[in-house]
Amino acid sequence: MKFEIIRDISAPKKPKPQGELGFGRYFTDHMLVMNYTEGKGWHDARIVPYGPITLEPSSMVLHYGQEVFEGLKAYRTADGRVLLFRPEQNARRMNASNRRLCMPEIDEDVWVSCVKAIVAEDRDWVPAEEGTSLYIRPFIFATDPFLGVRSSHTYQFMIILSPVGSYYPEGIQPVKIYIESEYVRAVKGGTGLAKCGGNYAASIRSQSNAHAKGYTQVLWLDGVERKYIEEVGTMNVFFKIAGEIVTPALEGSILPGITRDSAIRLLRDKGYTVTERRISIDELVEASDNGSLEEMFGTGTAAVISPVGELQIGEKHIVINDGKIGSTAQWIYDTLTGMQWGKIADPYGWTVEV
Ligand SMILES: *Cc1c(COP(=O)(O)O)cnc(C)c1O
Repeated sequence: MKFEIIRDISAPKKPKPQGELGFGRYFTDHMLVMNYTEGKGWHDARIVPYGPITLEPSSMVLHYGQEVFEGLKAYRTADGRVLLFRPEQNARRMNASNRRLCMPEIDEDVWVSCVKAIVAEDRDWVPAEEGTSLYIRPFIFATDPFLGVRSSHTYQFMIILSPVGSYYPEGIQPVKIYIESEYVRAVKGGTGLAKCGGNYAASIRSQSNAHAKGYTQVLWLDGVERKYIEEVGTMNVFFKIAGEIVTPALEGSILPGITRDSAIRLLRDKGYTVTERRISIDELVEASDNGSLEEMFGTGTAAVISPVGELQIGEKHIVINDGKIGSTAQWIYDTLTGMQWGKIADPYGWTVEV
């Protein structure tokens, strides 16, 4: 396949941010843009200075939300290399999201080439301090200037980059979770399995309520029976119950996380029994009551692992593992981040050098 990225990098370099990077606050010197036109396909891939874009106010994405995105990171190793983690999985998942939202797919190799090209361009923005990384945000949105409801005939693909600080500057802190009983995130047949902005728009009400009550995140239950556990905040969720690892099965309303997939693989290879099945909130309470609930944690690219220390279920307050991170969660965290920052061997071939 013939594919070329045009570079227009004629802009002065910005000063690098000083002090705390936080998450998603700073953007690098450049961005990647590529357009889609029906009949022509994806065309005009280009790297240009990072900056505002112009859109018709009638652009379809602004009215009907036809948009999908991805999230991955570039990591700097001690010897100065820059590594990506399973980027082809993000390419594949973005295409799955594209199919669900009736949007055009991008060839997986082209997609990964785009990510590598923009990261290579702004390579000096990949931070080197402990725990930091360069967050990569690819996204696609509908650009037809049209108010009728249908799928757009034109789209824009973009990749922006943001240097991000350590998620755990003071060590891993378990979070307090609130169980959402009023609102749901997704239902089977909906868009829960796609990474689209609309899912996030629908989740902010709950997250805001949970924050107001002093909780960090929301535990989402299934949208039909409001009984089975689906995800925690914007992460997949795992439990360790009497030595066995349990995570909700992907039945159409749960986002198939790449960290989830990697954690399952690592755990199985380590000899753990990992079961993907439905797990109800009642089972969780029972496991807590009889002392078999050993660990609970979320998985996702941003935090890698986020242990849950406390749960509020109606009037019932549950404390897990004395509110501390468990040994299994810690081991997954150390192993995955060890590979990502090139500190330990990667026997899976998951890391890809830029
Ligand atoms: C992105 C995302 C995840 C985690 O996926 P990773 O590939 O592990 O980063 C989990 N749940 C939701 C809703 C997400 O959007």
